[in-house]
Amino acid sequence: MTNTQFQQLWVCFGQAVSKHKDELNQLDAAIGDADHGTNLDRGLQQVLEKMQAASPATLQATCKLVAMTLLSTVGGASGALWGSGLLAAAKVFPDTDTCDDKTLTQAIQAFVDSIEQRGKAVVGDKTMLDVFVPALSSLAQDAEPITVVVPEIAAHAKEWAEATASLQAKKGRAAYLGPRSVGHIDPGATSSALWWQCLGRIIG
Ligand code: ADP
Ligand code: MG
Ligand code: MG
Repeated sequence: MTNTQFQQLWVCFGQAVSKHKDELNQLDAAIGDADHGTNLDRGLQQVLEKMQAASPATLQATCKLVAMTLLSTVGGASGALWGSGLLAAAKVFPDTDTCDDKTLTQAIQAFVDSIEQRGKAVVGDKTMLDVFVPALSSLAQDAEPITVVVPEIAAHAKEWAEATASLQAKKGRAAYLGPRSVGHIDPGATSSALWWQCLGRIIG
């Protein structure tokens, strides 16, 4: 992946979240506080502005800029998790323009590890990890090139997000609802699926 592609990923994600902002807020209204779309949209619009102003020249610099911007502007659980996850990923990305498939997988692994450590959630807890963990294991196990695997993951991401409907939330605001969280799709899993769809579009 090149730095240009990585920046295109954030442009795509920003556009997708903006387009689905109301839907993400509605999902969060059912099991949280109705701000997930607004939170991410606010952060990602700032990311796009800062990326244009600073034009970071390496994968590491871009990732750090996105992380710091999301940390300082998103607020909420998702801001802290995306921000700290991306700071961990930035340590794996090289301070150069391009990285190979293996390094991209390792950066996503570092992102997921950091979110697991910080949020203490596991697969099945009805969070963004219910999309990121199966996506990462497809990426890490598959012997095919990333240009083939990522579009396949992108095609499944929405199903993984929708499958969170049958789960009871164990972490985050939705956990306060206990069994009443069942029957609703997790907003963070839904926005995570948008991210994978963008990655599929950009490196596929
Ligand atoms: P807040 O709940 O603070 O309003 P958001 O609405 O922006 O934050 O984000 C909520 C999303 O964050 C949830 O749908 C879930 O996917 C994710 N989330 C919340 N807590 C955790 C956690 N401990 N680990 C992983 N993801 C989490
Ligand atoms: Mg919320
Ligand atoms: Mg909130």
